[in-house]
Amino acid sequence: MRALILVFTALLFGNGRAVAESCPAPPDVILAPVNIVDVERGAVRKNRGLVLSKGQIAEEFDAARASRVARLRPGTARIDGEGAFVLPGLFDMHVHALWDASAPAPFFAQFLAYGVTSVRDMGGDSKTAIAVRGQMARCEINAPTIWFPGPFLDGPQPVDPELSIALETPEQARAAVSDLAARSVDFIKAYSLLSANVLDAVVVAADEQGLRVAGHVPAAAGVTDAVLKFASIEHLAIEIGGFCPSSQREACAAVFQDMIAAGVAQTPTLVARETSTRIASPTFKEEPAVERLPEVVRAYWRREQKKGAARATDEWRAARRQSLAHARWMTGELSRLGAILLAGSDAGNPYVEPGVSLHEELALLVAAGLSEREALEAATSTPAKFMMRPDLGRIAPGASADLVLLRRNPLQRIENTRTIIATFKGGLYIAPPATE
Ligand SMILES: [Zn+2]
Repeated sequence: MRALILVFTALLFGNGRAVAESCPAPPDVILAPVNIVDVERGAVRKNRGLVLSKGQIAEEFDAARASRVARLRPGTARIDGEGAFVLPGLFDMHVHALWDASAPAPFFAQFLAYGVTSVRDMGGDSKTAIAVRGQMARCEINAPTIWFPGPFLDGPQPVDPELSIALETPEQARAAVSDLAARSVDFIKAYSLLSANVLDAVVVAADEQGLRVAGHVPAAAGVTDAVLKFASIEHLAIEIGGFCPSSQREACAAVFQDMIAAGVAQTPTLVARETSTRIASPTFKEEPAVERLPEVVRAYWRREQKKGAARATDEWRAARRQSLAHARWMTGELSRLGAILLAGSDAGNPYVEPGVSLHEELALLVAAGLSEREALEAATSTPAKFMMRPDLGRIAPGASADLVLLRRNPLQRIENTRTIIATFKGGLYIAPPATE
């Protein structure tokens, strides 16, 4: 693994912006009339128009002026969005799209078709990441904006040896973080088996390099000061290093408050939890869309599904149902107390399908107690702020033309995010999913 990461080049990393700027801009588009979903205000601006030019939103106007705007831009294609709703492009803040060379292209196609225009990859294969950056830089592939941490930083016997750097001492931690920083990774991913003192060293070293840490709460560390410096905690840490045991819910509010005061974001990934339980049923049936994914992905998913189904007892299923209920409760409480919530699916895990799973996560967030507006924020404006990208997650002149055009209003019913007519990524038209 160390040998692999040494072949990173600084040029190939960096957060996608330079890549987009070097690629030819798609043709300009006038989208009018259309209803604009203002997620932060929880309101719809009715009968508006947008000019998409050079990958950005160039102009928003009153649809009554549409003919005039079109005359001023002769030859520009016009899309009629009468009765439709336009939403900022969605973020999936926890995906694994880079773990095999065959995965990125079909994953990216699915993300974009489902309106997911930005993804935070949470760790994968370094060689694949390098290859993808190269393809993006050469404009050979349509991809969401993507952030990538490099390998997981884990304990001496990593959970996933192929995708991890094994760390035993604080010195090794410092060396690994500075290696990754030199190769311009976007952030550091801390994993479940780090010891408390090695985790401390990771967090200090990352801070010195100007890199943020996201990941699991290590079981041996628990909620230490180092964990409170994480940018985000993944999966609510229920099984691993749990910071809110279901048997002691009354004690959870104090931990939640500490995390909220420290500004730590949470990525609940409820859909991953729900899916891993659902697929362990002997009557589980694959969706036809799975056929569109590469053979290596399908083979891995089928293998894991069989293993899960063989292992699952009624007792196991009951425990999983309880864990999902607890995760929903935690999510609702964190939201009520004002935590920063990020919508993430863990796509790439068995049967957590890229793209559609983000919409499933949004529905689960609403089922956990968030309003439609709050769930949409967790997939648009909140992750844009979290990634410090004011050009993303909102619809305004100067913002990137990352948009999802919907038949129905998602503020009224969260399932309406699935009524996709088209996606625009940097102004480029992307057709909806084949099943829609
Ligand atoms: Zn993950």
